[in-house]
Amino acid sequence: MTTRPNIELLRAPNLARYRWLRHGFSTRAPGEFNLDYSVAETPASVERNRRGLLRAVSPPGGWQLVTLRQRHTDIIRVVRGRHEGSDGWGKPTRERDGALEFAGDAAITDQPGLLLAVQVADCLPILLADPVRRVVGAVHAGWRGTLAGIAAKTVGRMRQEFGSKPEEIVAAFGPGIHRCCYEVGPEVVQAFEARFPYWHKLVRRTEPSPSQVHWQQPLLDSAPGQTRPRPALTSPHGEKFRLDLVEANRRQLVAAGLKARRPWVLPHCTACRTDLFFSHRAEQGRTGRMMGVVGIVQRRDSSLRSE
Ligand SMILES: [Zn+2]
Repeated sequence: MTTRPNIELLRAPNLARYRWLRHGFSTRAPGEFNLDYSVAETPASVERNRRGLLRAVSPPGGWQLVTLRQRHTDIIRVVRGRHEGSDGWGKPTRERDGALEFAGDAAITDQPGLLLAVQVADCLPILLADPVRRVVGAVHAGWRGTLAGIAAKTVGRMRQEFGSKPEEIVAAFGPGIHRCCYEVGPEVVQAFEARFPYWHKLVRRTEPSPSQVHWQQPLLDSAPGQTRPRPALTSPHGEKFRLDLVEANRRQLVAAGLKARRPWVLPHCTACRTDLFFSHRAEQGRTGRMMGVVGIVQRRDSSLRSE
């Protein structure tokens, strides 16, 4: 019998303190731990990895995995039970391993035993929990979802469906691409500028290389009396910017009512740390997917009761 390597899930301290919920963020270990069929060499490997993931979430067994067919939308699914499907956005499909897959980019539930999952490789996985009403949520936030306000809308939906108060919700940001590496074009910057008054806090212009600056600058100083032309920073290949997805979502959640210190952020950038994480950008699209998962422990499994 071969011994299986242990799966280490990264955990956020602000969620780990609640005994009624379980959560975690997977990494690319052990052994290229891909959890998405659509980018898998063999479906059997994903099935095996997902079984391993469910074992790593204690208590093992009894969890129904709930996944999302993610399309960078702001569609939020309210999952009310293992068998109930339709909330107006269509029924879920069963994946090979038995996971219930809904179309959408966020899911929320107050039902024990459902393990909500988002799949990522650079996009930010955000887990939410309302410790008062015992509601959890999982959000997939790339730039399109962030622009559409998916994290804030998920908080709004938790309030609407379950009576959650935003100031009581806690959030954890898992492994995603950070501003050191997330280059975007001017059209993305313009879209953020149009929507968020604090957009300038989210965007940095990429420093052009010395050769690009040189290319733009006049060869000779202008003659006395003439206006000296401003050296243009535009590169011949167009301007580049870097977007801070973490800060964008942190501000969005705070604007939605979360306390400023409530979001916890994993400090690693996926594109900087391909030794630890899958990165769609850094690996030119040829890579696996990790998961952020969160669920409510079923009462018989939990140690909430003292009798
Ligand atoms: Zn980076």
